[in-house]
Amino acid sequence: MASNLPENVIVVGAGLAGVALSRRLVQAGVPVTTLERRDAFANDGFAVNLPGNAIAALHQLGLGDQIAQIGRPTRRREYRDHHDRLVFEIDEDAFWGAEHRPRCIKRADLLAALLDDLPGDLIQMSRPVAEIGQTDTTVTARLETGEAISASLLVGADGVHSRTRAYAFPAAKAQSAVLSRASWRFLAPNPGIDAWTVWAGPSSIFLLIPVSDGEVYGWASVSGSAPAGETANGSALGPDIAAAFARFPKRVRDTLDYLVAHPGSVHWSPLEEVRIDTWTKGRVVLIGDAAHATAPVWAQGVALALEDANALADLLSAGGDGSTVGARFEAARRARVRHVQAMTDKMSRAARMPAVVRNLLMPVVGPKRYRQTYGPLRT
Ligand SMILES: Cc1cc2nc3c(=O)[nH]c(=O)nc-3n(C[C@H](O)[C@H](O)[C@H](O)COP(=O)(O)OP(=O)(O)OC[C@H]3O[C@@H](n4cnc5c(N)ncnc54)[C@H](O)[C@@H]3O)c2cc1C
Repeated sequence: MASNLPENVIVVGAGLAGVALSRRLVQAGVPVTTLERRDAFANDGFAVNLPGNAIAALHQLGLGDQIAQIGRPTRRREYRDHHDRLVFEIDEDAFWGAEHRPRCIKRADLLAALLDDLPGDLIQMSRPVAEIGQTDTTVTARLETGEAISASLLVGADGVHSRTRAYAFPAAKAQSAVLSRASWRFLAPNPGIDAWTVWAGPSSIFLLIPVSDGEVYGWASVSGSAPAGETANGSALGPDIAAAFARFPKRVRDTLDYLVAHPGSVHWSPLEEVRIDTWTKGRVVLIGDAAHATAPVWAQGVALALEDANALADLLSAGGDGSTVGARFEAARRARVRHVQAMTDKMSRAARMPAVVRNLLMPVVGPKRYRQTYGPLRT
């Protein structure tokens, strides 16, 4: 069996996709070189909301028990308008079942779980890949230092502004999301919620999810506007965001007051998407955000990244050849990703409807969209 394994796999990028893939490859005995440009693991965005299919992917990574010990389970969702009226709710426990119960987890804790038990030197930090080239038999990553590393397959897990994608598909660029051009993520004291709770106003959305005792992970976006809050350090909340949520309920305003006083608890980032027709060029394949970054409407970024890692690792550990495995990976993953993109577009358009129309439609359409989105992802 070992002779069928690819000689070596280079993974570019040690975000959640790259670390998950490296984990699976090490466990399967596939030689892997993982190159990360930063000198420390990124903690952008503080925490992640993990729907049931992300939990299923973590079980496949052998981390079901560890994950159950960290973060907080999400048993219920409340969708509210900006007057605090409950528009509809979702029983997530009933939908996903106990084994795949959604969770909200701090990103650093998730990364630590993915790195658990792996060789300490597996991830090579401060090793930015500058150029990629390939022949019929090999692919080569050239580092900024000039050093060249060759393998039979190179996996671009290097995020939304992927260098690997720029090599393989130079015309493919990240685009602003339909939902909004930018958003804020933050950690804050729990202002009194006990479920995943979103408030949607005429042009702004505020989401809070319990992530630990007394603490919530939050996400806020203001659609259509210039990226308010885009300051020199890219994190502070500008006056526009305070105005956008001025008529929201007290729990939202209390949280905003906290964030204004604690700007270090806020991470601002553009909301960008990647939509490309193929993820493979010869011995190069893209996974995670590099292949299909999608606005976090259904919180599928990490789920899809982990599922990609599992799918590619399954193919490689079964002896997949570096020159053909990309096409097989793509055949296995394309329909699922396309489904998430289509449902993201539907919900993004709904979020931009006039609030009066949206609030009339959502009690019926909201639960239906939830089932339509997540139903196919349960398998
Ligand atoms: C506002 C917002 C909220 C979100 N909320 C959620 C959520 O609640 N749940 C969820 O599931 N998803 C969420 N997501 C999406 C999620 O964060 C991403 O989909 C996921 O982290 C993608 O992981 P990745 O490993 O593919 O990419 P990344 O995390 O971007 O990792 C890429 C890595 O590659 C490295 N790299 C880049 N270039 C090079 C190079 N040339 N050489 C070497 N290394 C390189 C980078 O330094 C980085 O470490 C959200 C996204 C946004 C923007």
